[in-house]
Parts: sequence; C-alpha cells; structure tokens
Amino acid sequence: MTRKCDVFIVGAATTGIYLGWQIAKQGHSVLIIDKNARNQVGQRLEIIHFHRKTMKDLNIPPPTESPEFLFNYKGISVSRLPLFLQRMYKVLESDGVEFEFSCRFKELIFENNRIIGAKVEKDNTEIEIKTRLVVDASGIASCVRTSLPEDYGIETWNFDSSNQFFVILHYIKWIKSDEKHPEWGDIWPYYFVFFDPGYTKTEAIMGIAGPESYEKAAILTEELISREKFPEFELIKKEYNPFAFSRTPYSLVADGFFCAGDSASITNPLAARGIPETWRLCNEAADVISKALKTNEYLSREALWDVNVRYFRGIGAELAYIYMLTAVIFQLSENEINFLLIKLRSIFDPEQVNDDEEEIKLSFGKILKAGLKILWSIICGKIGIRSVGRLLKAFSRSGKIKKHYKKFPENPNDFEKWRMKAEEIWNQRTRATKLFQSTSAVYP
Ligand SMILES: Cc1cc2nc3c(=O)[nH]c(=O)nc-3n(C[C@H](O)[C@H](O)[C@H](O)COP(=O)(O)OP(=O)(O)OC[C@H]3O[C@@H](n4cnc5c(N)ncnc54)[C@H](O)[C@@H]3O)c2cc1C
Repeated sequence: MTRKCDVFIVGAATTGIYLGWQIAKQGHSVLIIDKNARNQVGQRLEIIHFHRKTMKDLNIPPPTESPEFLFNYKGISVSRLPLFLQRMYKVLESDGVEFEFSCRFKELIFENNRIIGAKVEKDNTEIEIKTRLVVDASGIASCVRTSLPEDYGIETWNFDSSNQFFVILHYIKWIKSDEKHPEWGDIWPYYFVFFDPGYTKTEAIMGIAGPESYEKAAILTEELISREKFPEFELIKKEYNPFAFSRTPYSLVADGFFCAGDSASITNPLAARGIPETWRLCNEAADVISKALKTNEYLSREALWDVNVRYFRGIGAELAYIYMLTAVIFQLSENEINFLLIKLRSIFDPEQVNDDEEEIKLSFGKILKAGLKILWSIICGKIGIRSVGRLLKAFSRSGKIKKHYKKFPENPNDFEKWRMKAEEIWNQRTRATKLFQSTSAVYP
C-alpha cells in the first residue's frame, strides 16, 4: 500500500502537531503518524504548563475549559496535555491535516542516496509513504534521525544516560494541608527536587530531575525526603519521563529531512521546558518549508538551510548559552547553590510574571543584576574561590558559544568550518560528579 503527501511527520505530540498545522495552513498536504492510539498520545505527562504568551503570539487556541484547563499560575496555564492534544487534533483535521494512529515508523526510503519517503507499519501492514519531506518529531526516541546514514549531514547520536534527565513526578496531596509544607516553586537545587502546581490548588507535584537513571533519581528523592523531614503526604500517582539535556545537533536539516522538539533536544535547560522554544522554531521552519515546497524542486539541505540560520542565530544561540552555563551550576557545592538561589531567585523567577514577558532571552539587565549579586556573594565569602574561577570561565565559554552560534553560516559550504569551531568550544564543557550522603552521581 502506498500513500502520498507533501510532508510526513513522525510523532503527533506538541512538536508534530504544531509544525504540521502551520504547513497545512499554507496549502500543503500533511500526514502525521503516532505509534500510540489516538486517545493514548501524551499520556506519559498528564499535567503541562503552557505559556500564555507563546500561545497568544502563535495563535494557538489556549485551554479554557475544565477538565483540560486547570488554572493559571504565573503567566502559565496549568493544563492536561492529553486533552489539549485531543482538542488540537480536531482543529488540525479541520485544516486538512491527516493522521494515522497506532502506526509506527519503520525505515526511510532513499533514491540516489536522498530521502524520498518512509515505510511505516499499521495493523501488521506495511505502508509506503511517498513524500517531499520527512520530519522527526518522535521525541527522545529520535527514531528517524538516528536511522539516517552517518554521512547524511546530520548527527545520529542517541539519547542515553549521559544526555538526559530522568524525571520522576510524584503527584501528591498533603495529609495535613494546614501544616507547614513545601510550596509551589520551592526547590532543592542540589538534588534538583522541585514543587510544581498539581491538579488543584491544595495539591502539588514533587518532581526530581535525576541524573544517570530513574533508580538514581529514586534514591536521591528518598534521601532528600528523610533529610528534610517533609510532612506526610498521600501519593496520588508517579510518572516517569525523560528530559532531553544536551546541545542540539549542529544542523536540523538534511536532504528531505527536518527534526525538531525533543528529537533535536530543543529544550530550555534552566526553565525545564521545551514546548515554547520548539513552537517558535517550527513557526519559522514552516515558512521556509512552505516556500521550498512551492518551487516543485527537491527539498534539499540547501533549500532548507534557512531553518538552521534562523534557529541557530536566534533561539538556538540563547539555549546554547544556557546549556553551557548549566555545567558550572552542577559543580557548585550545596551551600553555594542554595545561597545563589536565594539571591538570584527574584531576578530569574519573579513573584509576578507578566503575560508579555520575554521568555527565552536572558536580558542584559538580568545578567547584570545577577553578576552584581554573585559579586556580592563572593565578597561575603559565600562562594569559594575555586567556584568563582569556574563561574568566570563558564560565563566566558557561554558568551563564546552564543557569539559563535550567532555567526551560523548562511552558506552551507561554510558549515564544516563553523561546526569544527563549535565542537572545540563545546569540548570545554565538563560534566560534574556530585556527592550525596548515600551515593554519587554524574550530571549531564
Ligand atoms: C517531567 C517533565 C515536565 C515537563 N513539563 C513541561 C512544561 O510544563 N512545559 C513545557 O514547555 N515543556 C515541558 N517539558 C518538556 C516537554 O515535555 C517536551 O519538550 C515536549 O513534550 C517534547 O514534545 P515532542 O512532541 O518533541 O516529543 P514527545 O512529546 O515525546 O512526542 C513524541 C511522539 O512521537 C511518538 N513516536 C515515538 N516513536 C515513534 C515511532 N517509532 N513511530 C511513530 N510515532 C512515534 C510518541 O508516541 C510521541 O507521541 C517537560 C518535560 C518533562 C520530562
């Protein structure tokens, strides 16, 4: 059996649907598949925080009604992800997007060493998809990107224990809610334990972003709970989710191919989210893709190159800056990181957040304020001299990588030289090993 479409997308979660929708609205045929059944997609992560500003900017109909919408909190809508996806499937279908669920990507089809389609499997039947562009929106599975030939012009690395966090979310209810207990927004940064809004205003999600494995994350959670003597809580349920934590591949496009979302590690490491950044990338990518589709030419790497230029010079440069900085954050001692958090919180996580607040960019004003507070911490002796040295080096490396990304080459012929220089800077990012009471852990 054979099917045809202009754009074929693997993954019907937040990345796949937003990109597919934007391309379909420009008059092209789009087929999106997902290995899960229609009503099962997104179940891995029930509660999601959508930034209202992103939704408004990108004309995404925001969640407004229960049970999908839960409540607003600091510029975000606390909502149910599976229900958001179900609602959006109908919106996309009314704009002409086609879906196949319970349908798994198997392999790519090549002609003259270039992608011309893919094979998928549904109900034990193989279907050949003939298409002009294959998009990997399969999340951490990265099933299309990692199946590409090594020399196809895009990196094929997998996610493993070294480049992701293993997040365990405990949906909890305090047994004595009037007793003093951690509040939403409280974090134990050395352990990466945080408290987020839960289903209702009296519940919470206690999360841990653990390095190495879920087992390690569980050990660290137990250690912190007993050390801090949290009051008793009822566990409603636990969710296990990976969080992509690495630099993005140096190119997001190749002949007949584009990747975005978690499959390309488009995540904001400090804000622990990925959807707004990916949607903004997809918004720009859809324009480039649509323009290329209208030419009737093959969608070569060159034709798609502008996606790279726009991403790496814009959001990509900001995310690279932050990801480089995180290495030094993991190297701080528990006292140092706790002290800095108290000092820096009002800058990076203000009590009131406006809906029109810039989301990604660390503004000059914020960096300056943070710099002054760090300087004060050094003068007071709250940050050790070794850490000061590391911090200075990290800021310098972050600045270098951002500057380099902002010079992402317009001409694909200049890419190799750019890539080698980027590699040289990234190689200076070292991974930290942290010591805990019961174990040690290597951070990504
Ligand atoms: C605990 C946690 C909380 C988070 N909270 C937020 C938040 O509040 N806000 C935010 O912006 N971000 C958040 N993030 C990050 C965000 O969840 C991800 O960045 C985002 O969901 C990635 O979306 P995606 O569509 O790229 O991938 P996914 O959501 O992983 O979707 C990939 C889809 O591809 C399908 N698929 C995989 N393999 C195949 C195959 N072989 N064939 C067919 N289909 C396949 C899967 O079934 C899946 O539906 C959080 C992450 C974690 C871990």
